[in-house]
Amino acid sequence: MANDPDDRGAKQTKILLEESEMPTRWYNIVPDLPAPPPPPLHPGTHEPVGPEDLAPLFPMALIMQEVSTDSYIDIPEEVLDVYRLWRPSPLYRAHRLEAALGTPARIYYKYEGVSPAGSHKPNTAVPQAFYNAQEGIKRLTTETGAGQWGTALAFACALFDLECEVWQVRSSYDQKPYRKAMIETFGATIHASPSVLTEAGRKALANDPETPGSLGIAISEAVEVAAQDPEGRYALGSVLNHVLMHQTIIGEEAMAQLAKVDDTPDVIVGCTGGGSNFAGLTFPFLREKLAGRISPTIRAVEPAACPSLTKGTYAYDFGDTAGLTPLMKMHTLGHDFIPDPIHAGGLRYHGMSPLLSHIYELGLIEAESIHQTECFEAGVQFARTEGIVPAPEPTHALAATVREALKAKESGSETVILTALCGHGLLDMAAYDRYLAGDMVDDDYPEERVRDALTRLPQDLG
Ligand SMILES: *Cc1c(COP(=O)(O)O)cnc(C)c1O
Repeated sequence: MANDPDDRGAKQTKILLEESEMPTRWYNIVPDLPAPPPPPLHPGTHEPVGPEDLAPLFPMALIMQEVSTDSYIDIPEEVLDVYRLWRPSPLYRAHRLEAALGTPARIYYKYEGVSPAGSHKPNTAVPQAFYNAQEGIKRLTTETGAGQWGTALAFACALFDLECEVWQVRSSYDQKPYRKAMIETFGATIHASPSVLTEAGRKALANDPETPGSLGIAISEAVEVAAQDPEGRYALGSVLNHVLMHQTIIGEEAMAQLAKVDDTPDVIVGCTGGGSNFAGLTFPFLREKLAGRISPTIRAVEPAACPSLTKGTYAYDFGDTAGLTPLMKMHTLGHDFIPDPIHAGGLRYHGMSPLLSHIYELGLIEAESIHQTECFEAGVQFARTEGIVPAPEPTHALAATVREALKAKESGSETVILTALCGHGLLDMAAYDRYLAGDMVDDDYPEERVRDALTRLPQDLG
């Protein structure tokens, strides 16, 4: 038996689930928290937003999931059908990385690079496209930072017969031409952001014609277009409660997989841009921790150039640069802060998921920031031992994994480390080129610029 727990000594490398063992519901952590998260506020009235305020942007099924207090939501059969193209995803034991580090730690990574887009993003793109199609919507707009989300949504829209229009952050658009080709292969239209097609884009270009762009600006462009189209809606690849919930299938699978080898994590680390892959892996484990059944340390890892959790202010702010979205209480560096064009484009977001921010404020998770050269060093070591070239984003999780594994070596403890390898880097090779040529500069924390951006936070909202 491939997954016989008695096989632990036989160096089992992949821990697999049958399709019949795939979870059939998403987990909503909100009702299990000791305090509810603060509500999003209407930018005009500063009152909590109601479902009707969000209706121009999202289908009602997703709005209901966004505010749901049910612990579990059944995954529609049509979505499970698509998930089976790549799910359940493998959990790996990193025997070779452990050996290279000489650590007694046991390292496990949950690999989402097996999906059509090459990351965890289709886990939410597919249900988002499904619910929109079900409500008669014809087209979706979105932004993309690393190109992963744009690819995922383009794929999902192709399956459910929706048109798809993507604004890709300029720095990423220039670094990753094959993401554009892949998005077009799936049938979507793509623009570099800022673009001249929207008011938000024209304003950003007037401010700085050479701007590398940001997720905040690209979100403004996609929201602006969706809001003016009665048959169009907007889709977000991270940050929102329903997105994090769709990703919990990662953690539910990982928990079932670890149970097969009779192991329990002591430390769980993941990278955070808007928080979705991290929440997806960790929320089911946090449920068990809150119930007193396990006690892992759970840690988010962010880039030094965009450290919203570790250096941001916890305050109400806009989700986008132009101020078109509701106000969300979150860790923010300021909605008009433009991070340096680091290679982990998916981590260049000025804010953090409000739900994850709330959980951080409650003291239920930790956070740290790491410089990109240390991350790529870990990414290259991972590639040379485990054979998978990681996307630049999860190299942050791998750097934290290496730190933990070396700590375990120091203390001689058999720490069980679980991490999310949320995407492969096969379309990110320009970044590896830079790193291997010795041209990668370290991303410093831009303290002055953040302080300046924080002066423009919406005031008097607590
Ligand atoms: C989008 C993306 C991220 C960042 O988003 P999260 O919501 O924080 O997960 C990280 N890694 C990869 C591979 C991505 O595609």
